[in-house]
Amino acid sequence: MAATGGGGSGAGSCFVLGASGATGQALLRELRARGLFARVTLIGRRRLSLAEESGTAVEQVVVDFERLSEHAAAFRGHDVGFCCLGTTRSKAGADGFVRVDRDYVAQAAELARAGGCKHFVTLSSQGANEHSRFLYLRVKGEVEKLVQAVGFDRCTILRPAVLLCARQEFRPLEWLTQHVLGAVAWFFPTAYSVPVQTVARAMVASVLQPGGGKVEVLENKAIHQLGKAEPQLGT
Ligand code: NDP
Repeated sequence: MAATGGGGSGAGSCFVLGASGATGQALLRELRARGLFARVTLIGRRRLSLAEESGTAVEQVVVDFERLSEHAAAFRGHDVGFCCLGTTRSKAGADGFVRVDRDYVAQAAELARAGGCKHFVTLSSQGANEHSRFLYLRVKGEVEKLVQAVGFDRCTILRPAVLLCARQEFRPLEWLTQHVLGAVAWFFPTAYSVPVQTVARAMVASVLQPGGGKVEVLENKAIHQLGKAEPQLGT
């Protein structure tokens, strides 16, 4: 992988799916701050207004996720692909949730692989299990399997617990859970929750550290550990 260790101007290229979301925004900040890649391409359904910054060139490609195969060019020529895509059942309905969290992610992974991407880094969830009775966990388990089957040189799957973040959109259940778990995190910091900034750092750090195999699955505790450390290339 052609990225540099940090703080510098990288040479490689990556794409980010879901850069407008809570984790995606934190990831983009991290990528820009660390200058790991010379070029970052945001692939999304709408254009974002971004603050001007020197260093990393950020390009945006607006795509129709229902016709993703027509946007194969957006996925071409990237060393690494980061995926923070996702919706909720309450926002999109059960079918919509499956479409976004499983089908869009799996299709994007296929296009990325066809376009030469070597390392795919994607968000799943704590408890993901393709045999679960719960739709959310089942879909996350299914998408994990589909993405693994794509055949990247490396595939990193992160399974965060409840994400701690300041969200503009109000999600009452998430708000309540975050507040309870924010307090619990004082006593069990790595068990039930994880700040999005930590997840973002872990996603980036996974690229820099030597691969632990073709597929790596990082549970919440491992995300905390990796997101705390800032490994340099080759260490
Ligand atoms: P957000 O909901 O904040 O962001 C989701 C991203 O997906 C946004 O960029 C959004 O774009 C995009 N998106 C949603 N629907 C569509 C669609 N129909 N078409 C195209 N793009 C779409 O995500 P989070 O950062 O909260 O979560 C990231 C991932 O982590 C998700 O997969 C989630 O399931 C998983 N996760 C979340 C947990 C939590 O506690 N919230 C816990 C564990 C895992 P736009 O801005 O245009 O809507």
